[in-house]
Amino acid sequence: MALDLEAIYIDLHRHPELSFQETRTAGVVAARLTELGIPFETGVGRTGVVARLENGPGPVVWLRADMDALPVEERTGLAYASTARGTDAAGNDVPVMHACGHDLHTTALLGALERLRDTRDAWTGTVVAVFQPAEELGAGSQAMIDDGVLDRAPGPDIVLGQHITALPAGVIGLRPGTQMTASDGLTVVLHGRGGHGSRPHATIDPVVMAAATVMRLQTLVAREVDPREVAVVTVGSIHAGLKHNIIPPEATLQLSLRYTDDDARERMLARVERVVRAEAAASGADREPTITLDHTLPATINDPEATARVRAAFAAAFGDAAVTDPGLFTGSEDVSRFARAAGVPLVFWFWGGIDPAVYAAAERAGTVDRGIPTIHSPLFAPVRHPTIEQGVENLVVAARAFLG
Ligand code: ZN
Ligand code: ZN
Repeated sequence: MALDLEAIYIDLHRHPELSFQETRTAGVVAARLTELGIPFETGVGRTGVVARLENGPGPVVWLRADMDALPVEERTGLAYASTARGTDAAGNDVPVMHACGHDLHTTALLGALERLRDTRDAWTGTVVAVFQPAEELGAGSQAMIDDGVLDRAPGPDIVLGQHITALPAGVIGLRPGTQMTASDGLTVVLHGRGGHGSRPHATIDPVVMAAATVMRLQTLVAREVDPREVAVVTVGSIHAGLKHNIIPPEATLQLSLRYTDDDARERMLARVERVVRAEAAASGADREPTITLDHTLPATINDPEATARVRAAFAAAFGDAAVTDPGLFTGSEDVSRFARAAGVPLVFWFWGGIDPAVYAAAERAGTVDRGIPTIHSPLFAPVRHPTIEQGVENLVVAARAFLG
């Protein structure tokens, strides 16, 4: 019996799970793999699942999908919108949504496995399907590598992966070279001195220190990075205090930094540290700020030769116009760790999930940037069709470009 991919997608969408908590999702994957008769292993890198479809001698192609969701409250209004809640790593109760579309990635990979299983006569080799946890932490691929995935499954000759994006459905974005930036996540704790809100002179106010730090950090890209370079400094989280009239003892910032290479990374980290320490000094803080590197992600770099091969296969299958160069994305991914660890090429592409008519209207109105919700938005709502089918086709076509 054929998998009902739409039902799988809706089920996963309704039941999103945070990073490294994808136990139900892994269970859904395992149940469908059992149904397909494809051998698999669970619990790889905590909650990952690795399936292998062996079909005689030939190249080993790894197809990777990530499974985790985000602490976002869904506001799409869809009939199958998530109302799920979860507990994040800090113990907070948070809403959970598949705002990054990893439910689509997982569904598409199951569909691709089914298709490849049903067309065994047309290819030889081995397909390894990697259902990865915790991409959003930038930690899942490393957890699977640390758990020996490269030895437990046949080692890859090529690693392939894909991500849904806010392009029109039917469009594939594929780019040789650097496709996505490297990124770091930092936590900065600014230490002040708490006290009564009526007696600011007796305190060192970390709220003001944080405000000044955030504003000054925003000058780094604007004033210190060559305008021809790509770099991002975002302060995505700022927390201090509990009540109107209490000056809190500290403020916590969470930063997301992006760059295209390792040199740029070193320079930006040094600049951030300089600003953070200088603002603390300017506030008269008697304790140095604490700066912690929470996670770091390598740049996602597509092997030019392998990318050309995938591009040609996509163009043959979907038409030349369907494949575009989407430009450099300032998002980051941990998929490339598999390819880096194995020393093999990577090809990672994007496929559109926005209703083409809606996209075209936004383009005409010049409102694509603010009118089309992107991944990580509470409003991100890709159309189910043809997005699911296209996701399956992409993986099958790309895998077949390398299989015997
Ligand atoms: Zn994401
Ligand atoms: Zn994602």
